[in-house]
Amino acid sequence: MEHKIAIIGFGGMGHWHYDLIQKIDDLSISGIYDIDEKQQKDAEDKGLRVYKDLDELLDDQRSDLVLVATPNDLHKKLSILSLESGKNVVCEKPAAISSVEVQEMIDAANCTGKFLTIHQNRRWDQDYKMVRDLIKTDKLGGLWRIESRVHGSIGIPADHWRQFQEHGGGMVLDWGVHLFDQITQMFRGEKIKKVYAALTHVTNLMVDDGFTVELTMESGVVALVEAGTSNFISLPRWYVLGSEGTAEIKNFAQKGEIVCARGNGADDVMPVLTAAGPTKTMAPRREENIHREELPLIESDIREFYQNVMRVIEGKEESLIKMTEVKRVMQLMEAVFESGETGEPVYFES
Ligand code: NAD
Repeated sequence: MEHKIAIIGFGGMGHWHYDLIQKIDDLSISGIYDIDEKQQKDAEDKGLRVYKDLDELLDDQRSDLVLVATPNDLHKKLSILSLESGKNVVCEKPAAISSVEVQEMIDAANCTGKFLTIHQNRRWDQDYKMVRDLIKTDKLGGLWRIESRVHGSIGIPADHWRQFQEHGGGMVLDWGVHLFDQITQMFRGEKIKKVYAALTHVTNLMVDDGFTVELTMESGVVALVEAGTSNFISLPRWYVLGSEGTAEIKNFAQKGEIVCARGNGADDVMPVLTAAGPTKTMAPRREENIHREELPLIESDIREFYQNVMRVIEGKEESLIKMTEVKRVMQLMEAVFESGETGEPVYFES
């Protein structure tokens, strides 16, 4: 079955979707609407129809799907208007700027009987899939800590709505939404008991330009989730600790490495000399007492996102990205803001 999508917001991410849609069978673009003349001209140059206003886009009976790819504060309004016009909706992340708004979007989807999902595309990242699959095995022994970080050094892009709270800016909503979504997917079915957050304002006072968040799971596993925009040396993307071994993945889409204990060589270490004296406790194991293994890159195909969207509309599949999951992540981000503001942990229990 053929589907047509109308794009609202043809900026950076609108263009990314344009490129992706070219590679997807049975999906094409009916046209775009953007308030920026430069983006309108660019769409025309690509041979796309440019709607003169939102009503024209919503009235176009050729499209059965709308993509909302505008700044975050407009997601709720544009998604609900699209649903009420009889369209199915893919909305960019974060779904909205509060869990109350997300619930209004869910209510509109239920009321109209139309399909609504959020583009949580980082569920297809290779580094994430590598770690997700690793922790399903017992290769590291009992998992006790997982650290997920993204570090950049240019602050929040200066010329953008991303710097303003009223537009839903800041790194929690921008990158946190991906990182918390990944962690909650990895620990599906497990409650998060405690949220403890510190937000940074190194380059920006109006919104957070970074955060460090500790999530304590029901099982006791701690997940540290961090984004930084003033980090001139990046820490590894993932650092995973089990009772028998450690895994590290340095960056997006890079092979990972596992180092595990081999045999009983715990005491057989060469002390490390420090200025204050030798230490055995902090010395590395000898090579013969460890086992190193590369984690292979995992194939990933982001086209699956739209293929799933089309099959859901046709009634053939369940959505890969469910609004209940999206709302829980939004509630988690609200707990992050609360803890960041008060300096106290939030007992989340969800
Ligand atoms: P952007 O500023 O590059 O593009 C936004 C576009 O929306 C602009 O062209 C702007 O003119 C247009 N716009 C603003 N108000 C509008 C309105 N009322 N009607 C129609 N168009 C309007 O921003 P971006 O980087 O493309 O981000 C857009 C959305 O995509 C955000 O929600 C962002 O969080 C999300 N995003 C997602 C990912 C991802 O990996 N999933 C990556 C980047 C951005």
